[in-house]
Amino acid sequence: MNENTTLSNDYLKNIATQKFAGTNNTFIKIASSGGCSPSTTIWNNSIPSDLAGDCQITIYVEYTYNSIGCLTTVEFTYMGHTCPAECTTCGSGSESGEESGSSSGSNEDEPDYGGAPSENPLPPVDFCENLNQTQKEGMINTFTNLLNDNCSTNLIVKKLKQTPGLILKMCIDSVRVASNAHYNTTNKEILFKTEFVSTFMDVFREEIFHAYQDNVGYTNGIGSYGVSTGRANIEFEYKVFRDIMNGYPSALNASPNLTIKDNYKDWIETITNFGSTYPNISSITDFNIKFHSFLNEHTNTDPTVQGFIVNSSLNPATLHHIFNGLVKNNCGM
Ligand SMILES: [Zn+2]
Repeated sequence: MNENTTLSNDYLKNIATQKFAGTNNTFIKIASSGGCSPSTTIWNNSIPSDLAGDCQITIYVEYTYNSIGCLTTVEFTYMGHTCPAECTTCGSGSESGEESGSSSGSNEDEPDYGGAPSENPLPPVDFCENLNQTQKEGMINTFTNLLNDNCSTNLIVKKLKQTPGLILKMCIDSVRVASNAHYNTTNKEILFKTEFVSTFMDVFREEIFHAYQDNVGYTNGIGSYGVSTGRANIEFEYKVFRDIMNGYPSALNASPNLTIKDNYKDWIETITNFGSTYPNISSITDFNIKFHSFLNEHTNTDPTVQGFIVNSSLNPATLHHIFNGLVKNNCGM
């Protein structure tokens, strides 16, 4: 999987320093979780050396996975940059659109009197108090990249924004989260283990998807599935979402059963016309049956969902919700 992403120059230097120093490499941490071997990082390091720290660098990121779904290589290639104009009047307060200033007052989304503020396309976000400006901007950039990535992630972000009263809280906390990231249903909080994963599209997308399941896809949320029966469904639903979005199968990569893997591949290719369209799930009569037939295999073989319990009567409502006539191209993004 490959994608463009945009990060501040300061932030990139920070990653590069860690990488070239060869210590405490966050990429290795990612690949090490779930029983994978450490991955390598390749840096096509042609970023101009004279850019200011707040310039935004667009880099092309290429991920390579091995046959069991472990991340083996992350390759960065510099694509271009934009720098903010010199600021002469910004001595006090917020000049650029995003929230600066107090750590909690970040939700200036809709003034009561209905003025016309420059519309923030993202749902309101609150941050944990200990985050610095670079960390906040990194997460907002990633969230924005999701909005602009493709029609399915665009829909997810837009619907979250339209959800009355929803404020997502974002934190970086290596103590409270055991894996890369966690969505907490009780307070709508997304916890990232490290600053790096908080800007990693794959991780960010999964947690935003869980927020969508909780606040849009399932009428009563997913809180009751979070710790007990049904968690396997919730996690597999994201994997299927990702495969429909990408148009190719990966959810059963850990399975040793070639027949089931092949059937899953056929299913994804059929419902996406080999990756060219999104399915309209309401017109696929056996969609839930197929989902459940592969759900068991995923739960039994994927190390990331070990011990999770299947709820055999819980259907993938979020997938029905998203892929309900949504077009893959020309969705107005
Ligand atoms: Zn998950």
